[in-house]
Amino acid sequence: MTTNEIKEIKQLLSSPKNLVIVPHRNPDGDAVGSSLGLLHFLQKMDHKVTVVAPNDFPDFLKWMPQTNKVLKYDVQNRQSKRAIDEADFIFLLDFNALHRTGSDMQSYLEKYKGDFIMIDHHQQPDAIARFTYSDTSICSTCQMVYHFIEKLEMVDLVDAAIASCLYAGIMTDTGSFRFASTTSTTHRIIADLIDKGAENAKIHNQVYDTNSIGRLHLLGVAMNNLVVIPEYNAAYITMTRKELDAHDFQKGDTEGVVNYALSVKGIVLAAIFIEDPDQGIIKISLRSKGSFSVNKFARNHFDGGGHDNASGGRTELSIEETVEKFVSLLPQYKDDLSVSYEN
Ligand code: 5GP
Ligand code: MN
Repeated sequence: MTTNEIKEIKQLLSSPKNLVIVPHRNPDGDAVGSSLGLLHFLQKMDHKVTVVAPNDFPDFLKWMPQTNKVLKYDVQNRQSKRAIDEADFIFLLDFNALHRTGSDMQSYLEKYKGDFIMIDHHQQPDAIARFTYSDTSICSTCQMVYHFIEKLEMVDLVDAAIASCLYAGIMTDTGSFRFASTTSTTHRIIADLIDKGAENAKIHNQVYDTNSIGRLHLLGVAMNNLVVIPEYNAAYITMTRKELDAHDFQKGDTEGVVNYALSVKGIVLAAIFIEDPDQGIIKISLRSKGSFSVNKFARNHFDGGGHDNASGGRTELSIEETVEKFVSLLPQYKDDLSVSYEN
């Protein structure tokens, strides 16, 4: 984003506007945190702001202030469409292409006559926004929203509500500050967010220590289903619909489970295959350590994408066929997968 673009955005925001913020479908901590962090910030600038999420998000994110006012496009369709129609412009947060909002919302957003401002850290952003702030080296969209506020020279406006939302997204997208994307700048921003009122211990507790017993039993099933393929430093987990149903599956219950596969000593590539009860697909999450790009792997083979070390995709195959496909792909990547991160 150039200095001139920042000037233009400042000008646009200099009088009260009607604004909409859109995160990606199945919003995660970074998507919800950045959307609500920006919402609170723009409200402080006296704008009328509405977050329109494609669908609902997990309960462990619902402590964030004003989550109850987020419109869900799938169930509050008329209200959501009205908010979009009335928006002077729309912020797109934590995604790089409109299809990431799901096909219904995508086609509605494609008809939108106003301008988009995209703030995102995924690779290859589509050229759909009048202003695009894209940086794939930054750990989270929440950190980018902080930088965006810095660029506007309005860090003084950051209060406890904004700080808490941004803290949560940085925390979740960095695996609690442990992934390689976590930099000294990230820690400096985190320090500032704590100074501004983010209660770090409380936020960790609200996100990570509010498990239901069903979720932990489901985790037990997932651990039992973990398969390691030592020859290719790969590991995968399967979760069938039947297993999900048996443990009262709730949105978000499987989030982060793939990381257990990645935590096995020596593993470079980890996957989880989850039968999606609603869409009739297998939803795939991929994680890697080091230089093996799961973004490319997901793009090339599983109709998906994401980041180099964290991506997702899907198949319309059965879960068994999906696993077969995954395993059959490994030999062609043997060399790349033999580069261990631990040496
Ligand atoms: P997760 O595995 O947590 O759902 O997603 C990991 C990363 O990959 C996230 O940054 C997410 O935005 C991206 N991602 C997940 N699923 C897809 C997909 O189907 N398509 C694309 N392009 N990106 C995805
Ligand atoms: Mn993100």
